[in-house]
Amino acid sequence: MSHASGKSDERALIRARRDRETTTLRLAHPAEVALAYPSPYRVGMSSLGFQTLYRLLNEQGIGTHRVFLPDVWEPLALPWPQPSRPVLSIEAERPLSSYAIIGVSVAYELELAGLIRLFEGAGIPLLAAERGPRDPIVLIGGPLTNSNPSALLPFADLLIAGEAEHLLPAAIRELQGAHGRRAAIEAAGALPNTCIGEIDRGYFAPLPPPARAPDDLLPAYSAIVTPEAELADIFLVEPERGCSRRCTFCVMRGSTAGGMRILDMERPLAVIPEYARRVGLVGAAVTDLPHLEELVAHLVESGRGVAVSSLRADRLTPRFLRDLERGGYRTITVASDGISERMRLALDRKIREQHLLRAAALIHEHGFHRMKIYQMIGAPGETDADVDELIRLALEIASIQRLTLTFSTFVAKRNTPLDGQPFLGVKEAEARLQRIRAGLRGRVEMRPQSPRWAHVEYLLAQWGPEAGYAAIRAVHDGGRYADWIRAFAATPHAPRALRYGDEDAWERRKGKAAERRGVPLPVLA
Ligand code: SF4
Repeated sequence: MSHASGKSDERALIRARRDRETTTLRLAHPAEVALAYPSPYRVGMSSLGFQTLYRLLNEQGIGTHRVFLPDVWEPLALPWPQPSRPVLSIEAERPLSSYAIIGVSVAYELELAGLIRLFEGAGIPLLAAERGPRDPIVLIGGPLTNSNPSALLPFADLLIAGEAEHLLPAAIRELQGAHGRRAAIEAAGALPNTCIGEIDRGYFAPLPPPARAPDDLLPAYSAIVTPEAELADIFLVEPERGCSRRCTFCVMRGSTAGGMRILDMERPLAVIPEYARRVGLVGAAVTDLPHLEELVAHLVESGRGVAVSSLRADRLTPRFLRDLERGGYRTITVASDGISERMRLALDRKIREQHLLRAAALIHEHGFHRMKIYQMIGAPGETDADVDELIRLALEIASIQRLTLTFSTFVAKRNTPLDGQPFLGVKEAEARLQRIRAGLRGRVEMRPQSPRWAHVEYLLAQWGPEAGYAAIRAVHDGGRYADWIRAFAATPHAPRALRYGDEDAWERRKGKAAERRGVPLPVLA
């Protein structure tokens, strides 16, 4: 396809998408700021954080336009150079490179490939150190900054760590008020919870701790509803933020991420617009919300559909399930993570076998089609005995209720107690999945995520900024798993070049902990 026809296709797609959006915001306004998402429209429009920042910048008079990764650049494995596409904003159909300031939200490690494709495809110098006075200033933030944003530093002029509702507008005002590119970046970099990216080749500022948004900016909620989002036609709102629990593998755990902030029931209800027919209650620990049942009942009684993120098996009650069923639920999904009682205890995941069995019975009684349980293999200390226990329990649950198990492979994250723990290994993870598959004898549906991509995620999560350079090489080599592994092996790196947030605090408390936490990375073939 020629570039010209690619351009008219892209414009037609953008217009069709705009026509299907419902919002109370005025979208057609000029803006010098673009908010970019390194995954396609469908994914970005389901991100509550992205939607919230977009809304706040517009409400506060700064104005911003959205830009997404063109759909054809989504596959991780994609020959380089990628097919040519214009990278245009949804609101103004303007090239991304024409905006003075670009904010990028990165949700998780593997989106780095999308970020590389987006910038190179848009003709913006990829590395911060290579941008000049006429190039956009690039701010990077998003959920990934809660664990290890090191790999983002080569691409960022400015990094914003943690919740950015107050910081992004403040940083943009600093940038707009200063004279000259460097002065502007330095002024914004003086704000708390921000740091300057690698604008000087080889110099990395210490990573800041993640920010916490002021209570008066909560709840986060959608700006735009669209049938094309992954969460199609759902208005998202966050009735609580964070989690008070302490699962040792989780970046959102209370003691590092600041705990759970509960909003009165009226606050999320007050922001739901008349046009919202389905409401998604989103948050790290929504089912720990004391008034969740009441909130769901209220929404259902007002004639709306309801979706709830992250249900806990030990919090399901008959009334709650009845309302979820009235609210349009067909499958109830709960998380177990640890695959045996012993592993759940070791991970501080306070879900017991009896909770899962009782949940299955309740789900069956209320006529749901299916129960889905999230499992995570490969956490430290897991053995075949744990795998066999999972098989036994899954078969028992399947005798009560139709069951699907989803599997991820454990990835150690910075800023958690399991940071530095090794990755299980791709072959080992595949063998473990195979043992489970054989044991379940087709009586339970299995949906495993690829252990190969978990391995890449692990390397990106554990390395310092060199991971950003390895990612560029991997994307240019075609983005397949083998390309990533070769790229990491060919990239020199210093393990633990940067410390992060509570790692510093941990070290102060425990003296020699830094050594223990510096578990060497696996040698790559
Ligand atoms: S896994 Fe869930 S319950 Fe555990 S700390 Fe994370 S968000 Fe909280």
